[in-house]
Amino acid sequence: MNESLLEVNHLTKYFPIKKGLFNRTVGQVKAVDGLNFTIFKGETLGLVGESGCGKSTTGRSLLQLLRPTTGEIKYEGRNMVGLPPEELRRLRKDMQMVFQDPYASLNPRMTVGELIAEPLDIHQAASGKERTRRIDELLEIVGLNSRYADRYGHEFSGGQRQRIGIARALALNPKLIVADEPVSALDVSIQSQIINLLQDLQDQFKLTYLFIAHDLSVVKHISSRIGVMYLGGIVELANKRELFAEPLHPYTQALLSAVPSPDPLAKKSRIVLPGDVPSPANPPPGCAFHTRCHACMAVCRTDKPELRDVGGRQVACHLYNQA
Ligand code: SF4
Repeated sequence: MNESLLEVNHLTKYFPIKKGLFNRTVGQVKAVDGLNFTIFKGETLGLVGESGCGKSTTGRSLLQLLRPTTGEIKYEGRNMVGLPPEELRRLRKDMQMVFQDPYASLNPRMTVGELIAEPLDIHQAASGKERTRRIDELLEIVGLNSRYADRYGHEFSGGQRQRIGIARALALNPKLIVADEPVSALDVSIQSQIINLLQDLQDQFKLTYLFIAHDLSVVKHISSRIGVMYLGGIVELANKRELFAEPLHPYTQALLSAVPSPDPLAKKSRIVLPGDVPSPANPPPGCAFHTRCHACMAVCRTDKPELRDVGGRQVACHLYNQA
């Protein structure tokens, strides 16, 4: 379980802010700012945080759908950043993405069969009867009838479309799937069906997941470890049980206080954070969370806390520097 599949070192992704007649760069949006984490083989690492915290940019950068500004992304020990396109294409077969919005991610002019076979066609992985057989097989794997191959996306419900998206992601037998908010566009009753399907597929095909979501209760259900992101950085990374039993970072504490408890008698007071999330174009100095943190100290305004080991988990907070 503890064998690394993907290792991320000092990953940053900045987007330039352009202005004026000459389109000059006048600043940077620091969407991802110095991430370090590992995804182990066979696990589901959940990534949570409010919208705009950089979690989707992280997922896309890992798959090189966005070129990182700096840093390393090592897949099975090999740094993918800066690889020539042909080598990158070969590695990318092992990594696929399931997108947030099944409606927007499927081309309305393609049949379901064409959509599922597109990765096979791009990588010339199957043709003729083998291609047809694989489409049928993938539809059945995700719980859809193989007769659906000739139909179009608009004929299906949201849950069925997400199943089609998952079948497409499985076409090339990937090892890693980055699932970016895969259930947030679905009804609650359908969400659990898709989560259960993802868990079954993980067991069946020994998949590793990076599961990105803003909803902690969804992430809790599927993840083995959880990373909490705030303004482009991970503030806490821990085993799911430990994180839910005792969140250490003040931001994690606030996020968890908003998750409804299954026990109606459990007393829980919600921590309401003051103000808004600062702009990633102009993040606060020191700890990025200090403008909203109830425990802020003088050092927090000047020194950025590093993500460091605290009793078996990792936390970026000066409160634990003495530990
Ligand atoms: Fe709060 Fe300081 Fe910890 Fe940041 S480093 S979370 S401001 S206590």
